[in-house]
Amino acid sequence: MAFSLQPLPYAQDALQPVISAETLALHHGKHLQAYVNNLNEAIPGTPFEMLSLEDIVLKSEGGILNNAGQILNHNLYFAQFRAPKQGPNLPTGKLLTAIEQAFGSFPAFQDQFVQKGTTLFGSGWVWLSADKEGKLHITQETNAYNPIQKGLCPLLTFDVWEHAYYVDYQNRRKDHLTALWPLIDWDIIAHRFILE
Ligand code: MN
Repeated sequence: MAFSLQPLPYAQDALQPVISAETLALHHGKHLQAYVNNLNEAIPGTPFEMLSLEDIVLKSEGGILNNAGQILNHNLYFAQFRAPKQGPNLPTGKLLTAIEQAFGSFPAFQDQFVQKGTTLFGSGWVWLSADKEGKLHITQETNAYNPIQKGLCPLLTFDVWEHAYYVDYQNRRKDHLTALWPLIDWDIIAHRFILE
């Protein structure tokens, strides 16, 4: 099965100034497209040709895992944003309750999440995921790894590869991560949580 570039669900300038149109053109149009192209070149004639992206991530290694993992990670990442709105941007209902149970409060969760993203050495991703009991966890995953490899259901992620923020924030990773909160579409995150 050939994979294709998942289109952005918003205009390329919708997330400015936190994520500029230039960053999206590079990050989505060049980096993610390259992972898609690489995977499509690597899998023909292998057992992975007929598998879903998630199954490839669970069963492959090496270059195939790296590219499949990055496609899965970026698809979840780009789909979770929307243009910022006026007023506070908070999760509600069952998701908010689970966050408060796991981390004490929503602001405490935000602090921990940004801290884990800031202290991840090198390239990778910080994730909020749910386990089989619906309990929430923050994990750091290096390079192309995804929480599904730990049996977790991924809900929310911040990309801490430098290509995600260098054009707009240079080396100020923590400032970039802190500025992402108004862009999160909590309805999408709640939908991922309910599916689990
Ligand atoms: Mn990226």
